[in-house]
Amino acid sequence: MSRYSLFSLLRHSLDYHRGWQRAWRNPQPKRAYDVVIVGGGGHGLATAYYLASECGVANVAVVEKGWLGGGNTGRNTTIVRSNYLWDESARLYDHAVKLWEGLSRELNYNVMFSQRGLLHLAHNVHDMQEIARRGCAIGLNGIDSEFLAPAQVAKMVPFINLHGRYPVLGALLQRRGGTARHDAVAWGYARAADKLGVDIIQNCEVTGFGMERGAVTGVHTERGFIAAGKVGCVVAGHCGVLAQMAGFRLPLESVPLQALVSEPLKPALDCVVMSGSVHAYISQSDKGELVIGAGSDAYNSYSQRGGFDTIEHALGAVVELYPVFSRLKMLRQWGGVVDVTVDRSPLLTKTPVGGLFFNCGWGTGGFKATPGSGHVFAHSIARGEMHPIAAPFSLERFHSGALVDEGAAAAVAH
Ligand SMILES: Cc1cc2nc3c(=O)[nH]c(=O)nc-3n(C[C@H](O)[C@H](O)[C@H](O)COP(=O)(O)OP(=O)(O)OC[C@H]3O[C@@H](n4cnc5c(N)ncnc54)[C@H](O)[C@@H]3O)c2cc1C
Repeated sequence: MSRYSLFSLLRHSLDYHRGWQRAWRNPQPKRAYDVVIVGGGGHGLATAYYLASECGVANVAVVEKGWLGGGNTGRNTTIVRSNYLWDESARLYDHAVKLWEGLSRELNYNVMFSQRGLLHLAHNVHDMQEIARRGCAIGLNGIDSEFLAPAQVAKMVPFINLHGRYPVLGALLQRRGGTARHDAVAWGYARAADKLGVDIIQNCEVTGFGMERGAVTGVHTERGFIAAGKVGCVVAGHCGVLAQMAGFRLPLESVPLQALVSEPLKPALDCVVMSGSVHAYISQSDKGELVIGAGSDAYNSYSQRGGFDTIEHALGAVVELYPVFSRLKMLRQWGGVVDVTVDRSPLLTKTPVGGLFFNCGWGTGGFKATPGSGHVFAHSIARGEMHPIAAPFSLERFHSGALVDEGAAAAVAH
């Protein structure tokens, strides 16, 4: 029975909801663990969960400098899809979508995964050629995708402006795509990992690595040294900083990416609409707010906010495409620091330091991969060898040239 069942709500209402237990413990760090995961976002927590649940490694700590999900996990527009171009990406992202489909049941926590369908609009000839190529490639990989004519788009989104400044020439639809509740993903993995014995240590920044003879021996933190034979770094926009502490560089840049939400509306939009070439992505949350994503800012930064011109551009595109939303008030705006590689694909990799693994480079679009990324990363750490799904995403590709170029499917798109 769910711990958050109607029955529990009724029972706890009798004592004015004072008796709820913590969803996870708040332990003191031990002196040593088998594995330390740095970063308590969705990917780090998922890694810890699968280490404990599938790999038989429960002596694990997740060390987070702030609070769980306070990084990009709690700041993203929650779009989930697997319609990427290359076979390697298709395997990775569809592995994730399959795990999403059973995640609430697996974690016994409602992550509100909603496969409401996702439209990728084409506004010009280049977009049409791109979705045609990608749609066919996706189909060859056995992943659902459909081409829609403008009239079919208008059937799904009746108030869309098909003939404005950004004419809609067609769209690629993934019906299994949709959204999930970002905080719930972090909290669900945290609660399930904690139950399996994983220590989740918040407000504890990692400030360096212990190393001996080219291998990691643990992490230096604000609360002292924590020994570990294996360390997985899952810190998104700060991975370059952690790599520098370990003595190497990563081929990526950290840039701000912004999003915003409107005041709540009655149900109006029951699918996700992405518009890659005009940098605007929109869906409606269960609370009724429109959730809108912008393009990334054009400069490198570690600040969790961005320039006003970028959101102004995104809103200009939204108003052009959906004039009906033009008088809505925006309630909140924020930014996250995203780690972007040159081929717009992630890094799931061993490093020049023995026992030190990195999972990063998800850029503007890693939320959708959370379960799959955690799953294959956990297996890679446990075995000491990259999981076959993760192997193409190693650092080695920047030496060999075997890039996985998802510029069109990912780029600034989520
Ligand atoms: C505005 C915005 C919109 C987005 N929209 C989408 C979308 O619609 N769909 C999608 O798939 N993706 C989207 N993304 C991308 C997605 O959010 C990320 O790829 C994903 O959440 C990364 O998860 P993570 O767990 O790797 O990183 P994070 O959630 O950022 O977690 C990393 C954690 O590491 C911690 N940390 C950093 N340094 C240290 C240290 N020294 N010691 C200890 N802890 C440390 C941070 O505090 C943070 O909590 C979006 C991102 C943003 C910013």
